[in-house]
Amino acid sequence: MRYKSTRGTAPTLGFRDVTLAGLASDGGLYVPDSWPSFSPEQIAGLRGLSYVETAVRVMLPFVEGDLSEEELRALCTQAYGRFSHAAVTPLVQLDHQNFLLELFHGPTLAFKDVALQLLGLLFEKFLTGTGDHLTIVGATSGDTGSAAIDAVAGRTGIDIFMLHPKGRVSDVQRRQMTTVLAPNIHNIAIEGSFDDAQALVKAMFNHADFAGRFQVTAVNSINWARLMAQVVYYFYAAVRLGAPDREVAFSVPTGNFGDVFAGYVAHKMGLPIAKLIVATNVNDILHRALSNGDYSAGTVTPTAAPSMDIQVSSNFERLLFDLAGGSVADQMAGFESTKAMRLTNAQREGAAALFASDRIEPGEMSEAMRWASAEAGEVIDPHTAIGLAAARRANLPGDVSIVTLATAHPAKFADAVERATGLRPSVPARAGDLFERQERYDVLPATFEAVSGYIAERATPRP
Ligand SMILES: *Cc1c(COP(=O)(O)O)cnc(C)c1O
Repeated sequence: MRYKSTRGTAPTLGFRDVTLAGLASDGGLYVPDSWPSFSPEQIAGLRGLSYVETAVRVMLPFVEGDLSEEELRALCTQAYGRFSHAAVTPLVQLDHQNFLLELFHGPTLAFKDVALQLLGLLFEKFLTGTGDHLTIVGATSGDTGSAAIDAVAGRTGIDIFMLHPKGRVSDVQRRQMTTVLAPNIHNIAIEGSFDDAQALVKAMFNHADFAGRFQVTAVNSINWARLMAQVVYYFYAAVRLGAPDREVAFSVPTGNFGDVFAGYVAHKMGLPIAKLIVATNVNDILHRALSNGDYSAGTVTPTAAPSMDIQVSSNFERLLFDLAGGSVADQMAGFESTKAMRLTNAQREGAAALFASDRIEPGEMSEAMRWASAEAGEVIDPHTAIGLAAARRANLPGDVSIVTLATAHPAKFADAVERATGLRPSVPARAGDLFERQERYDVLPATFEAVSGYIAERATPRP
C-alpha cells in the first residue's frame, strides 16, 4: 500500500516509512492511495473471529509490502495480549438500542492503548538492525501520553518527549506518564493549553534544522498507523451486532477526530454504518463545522473531559481531503493563518451523508453518567458520557443499534465521576500503586526555543 499526503506535494511512501515519519514533509497527513474494499461476504467471514484475527484481516491491506501476514499476526498477538479482557474490546448492552464498546482494557486505561501498543512494536520492528534512532515528540491532552510512554518505555533506539498542558490533565493521567522513570522517557509540562502543545510539536516537525538533526516522529493520531489500528474495533463490534446484514451506528466522543475518522475508514472499506455521531463537549469546533460549515477555532475551555478539550482537530484534514477529492493545501494554509475556514458545499454534503454531530453541556454529561449507572449499573467516565448523551438524543430508528465508544476507564477521571454519580470508581489492579510512585517531569514555557532547546540537549541526533 502506498500513502499520499493531504497537501499534495510530499513524496508517496509505503507503510513502514509513513509509520516512522508521522507527519508528511509538506505539513500534510498521510492517507492511503486508495481504500481497500471488503465485500459483504468478506465481512461475514469475520464472524466468530478473535480480536487478533479480526485485526489481521482488517489491517493486512494497509501494511502490504512491508509486513507479512505472519509478522502482522505476531505483532497483534503481542500488543493485544497485554489487554486485561479476553475480548480485548468487549461490548456491553445498556438498553434495547444502546451499547458500549469498552476500549479501556489496556495497560493505561484508555482507548489510546489499542493503537499505541501496536505502534510501539511497529517502531521497534522497523528500527531493528537499521542503527537509526527515533525521537518521538508528542503533545497529549492526557491519554496519548500515558499510552505512548507505556508502549515505548525502555525500548532501545527510541526517546520520547511528551508535552502535556500543565495542570490540565487528571492526577491519574499525569502520574501514569511521570512515574515511568525509564531513561528514554522525558515528560514536559507546558505552561499553556493542549493546542499550544500541539502547535509546538507541529512547529518542530516543520522546522528544517530541527527535523534535519533528529529523526523525529509522531505518536499523535496524525500518525496513520494509529488510525489503522482503530479501524479494527468498528468491524469487530459491528459484526457482533449483525453486520453486514444490519447497519450499526457509532457515537464517538471526539477531540482530534482520530477515533471517529477510523470509523469513516471502516465505512469506506465497506462496513455498513448508519451514522457516525461526532460528540463534542463545549469545545465544539467539530460540531460547528459539521452542522453549519464553520471550522473556526475559539479558545479552549477546560472541562471534566480533558481529552476532548481541543479546538484544532488535526485529523479533520483527512476527512476534508477525502471529501474534496484532492489536496487541501490552500484550505489548510488559510486556516493556519486566520484560524478559521468554511467547508465547501461538496465537503458539507459529503460529510452530512454519514456524520451527525452534537455538543454536550456539562449537566448533560453528568446526567448521562447517572442514567448509565441507574439503568444499567454501568459506571462510565466523562468522555464516554458525552458520547452516550449524544447517542441517546440522536433520534435514530429503533432497529439501529448505537454503539458508544467507551474511551476511558472511569477510574481515570474518578473525581468527575464521583461528583456526578456519588460513586468513586477504584483504579484496577493492573494500574498498580500509581499514587505511591515517584514522579519526574520538567516545566517549560510554551515557546519553540525553550522546548526545542530542551529536546536538542537530550535527544540522539541522526548518524
Ligand atoms: C483521546 C481521547 C478522546 C478523543 O479521541 P480523538 O481521537 O482525539 O478524537 C476521547 N476520549 C478519551 C478518553 C481520549 O483519551
